[in-house]
Amino acid sequence: MTDDPPAPIPPEKQVFFCDLCGAQMLNLHCKLICEQCGYKRDCSDP
Ligand SMILES: [Zn+2]
Repeated sequence: MTDDPPAPIPPEKQVFFCDLCGAQMLNLHCKLICEQCGYKRDCSDP
């Protein structure tokens, strides 16, 4: 018998969007990077 474990609740998945072009940014270890225009910022910035 296989007992499927319940899906873990993902941590807060916050989605950020680029201030410049509006594309969704990659959230890498609290570094936000826009793949579209290369804009970077820290996720702790307001
Ligand atoms: Zn951008």
